[in-house]
Amino acid sequence: MTSFSLRQTYSQLPDHFYASAALSPVAAPQLIKLNVPLAKSLGLDPVWLSGPEGVAMLSGSHMPEGVQPLALAYAGHQFGHFVPQLGDGRALLLGDVTDARGHVREIQLKGSGRTAYSRRGDGRAALGPVLREYVVSEAMAAMGIPTTRSLAAVVTGERVMRETPLPGAVITRVAASHIRVGTFQFFAARQDLAGLRLLADYAIARHYPDAAQAPVPYLALLEQVIAAQADLVAQWMLKGFIHGVMNTDNMAISGETIDYGPCAFMEQYDTATVFSFIDERGRYAYGNQPSMALWNLTRLAEALLPLLAEDEEQAVPVAQQALATFEGRFQQTYLAGLRAKLGLNTVQPEDAGLLRSLLETMQAEEADFTQTFRALSSEGAISGQGVPEPLAGFEAWLERWRQRLAQEGGVSVSTRINAMKQVNPAFIPRNHLVEAMIKAAVEESDFSLFEDLLAVCTRPYDDQPGKEAYARPAQASERVRHTFCG
Ligand code: AMP
Ligand code: MG
Ligand code: MG
Repeated sequence: MTSFSLRQTYSQLPDHFYASAALSPVAAPQLIKLNVPLAKSLGLDPVWLSGPEGVAMLSGSHMPEGVQPLALAYAGHQFGHFVPQLGDGRALLLGDVTDARGHVREIQLKGSGRTAYSRRGDGRAALGPVLREYVVSEAMAAMGIPTTRSLAAVVTGERVMRETPLPGAVITRVAASHIRVGTFQFFAARQDLAGLRLLADYAIARHYPDAAQAPVPYLALLEQVIAAQADLVAQWMLKGFIHGVMNTDNMAISGETIDYGPCAFMEQYDTATVFSFIDERGRYAYGNQPSMALWNLTRLAEALLPLLAEDEEQAVPVAQQALATFEGRFQQTYLAGLRAKLGLNTVQPEDAGLLRSLLETMQAEEADFTQTFRALSSEGAISGQGVPEPLAGFEAWLERWRQRLAQEGGVSVSTRINAMKQVNPAFIPRNHLVEAMIKAAVEESDFSLFEDLLAVCTRPYDDQPGKEAYARPAQASERVRHTFCG
């Protein structure tokens, strides 16, 4: 491929949905990483992308003909406070492609410079958060959790000013779309009913085409977003993922995890776990994520009210009914996931108690969430002969679990273990490893830890002999308390 072009379908929406963007070229862009398999699956030429024109595009410095970047408008509730205009302050939508599976995927730069929506920000990103997003989003994808993907990371050759000067970088991410709850709020806050309707129609066509056949398509849209988000947050909970900034502008209508900032994986099981430095009150703590998702979806329902019925009086109960489905859907997905993590193939009335008791034991023992489930996925745990070390203190619970397993005849131990290993990762991007990886990259331009961590975490379910250090929880001295945005 000697040329490069992308569709830009969002630009067919009216002008006030976005702002076209002027480029801010950077001093010395250099490619750190290109996700070659992802590029190929999108029909993009990895050779072109890693050449000078590709790197100029991936750094936001120069666009090839046929690429017209846009910054999208949106609003959002940030930590509960409504901001009527946010928008892509440091991101540019390059355009969209259809991937190998026939799905539309958008390509966006983050950290590429100021836009019409930058307010007082510099429009830039620091290298650390770019590398964190790269590794964590690819790890999430490898675990099978809906997420934006990372296509490329470049350093800009310029410094960005944070608390100290830091190397600047740009990440290229790929998403089903960048429409957020906050995008709907943008139009609702302006009482722009025509804009709201156009956006809803676009979202239906893009993500939930069968909603168009429903008696009230906009209600079907709301219901499907609720279901997708309930499933998504259940997946997060099952892997110990803490998003960190679940503001309404960071919740995608598609049901993908989006906007990796101060995100982190929980190590010791504790529902109050928070890492984000800016989340002082623990609004987005691990255990609050389901209720915060419902809070955000309630804001979506409010924004959609004018489309749900002739008048508000009729619309409110309709919206409430849709929102009431969240809890059941979440519980269903979450409990099914926990059962799978315990190797259970049938549903028994006592399961809820068994699951609760495991979580209570984990909390009491300060057990590592990921290691505990991986240790359960073993012959020793199932047979009681040579119980793995992370399960010390679980004897009483293990006995109960074995009795429950015994009720399910006909499944060989090895089949059960194999199935459990497909849902209980051995490797997650542990915070101390992410921090060490960032430190080496930022302070010494050493990307070898980045490559190692990425390679290990994108095979989360495989036993990887020699990589045991990546599976072990942080020791007290290594423990990371806070993560930052940036
Ligand atoms: P976030 O909390 O990262 O999702 O960002 C919230 C809002 O702040 C969005 O509108 C971002 O585009 C904007 N923003 C974040 N960082 C910057 C930055 N460095 N420069 C300009 N805008 C930013
Ligand atoms: Mg415009
Ligand atoms: Mg955001």
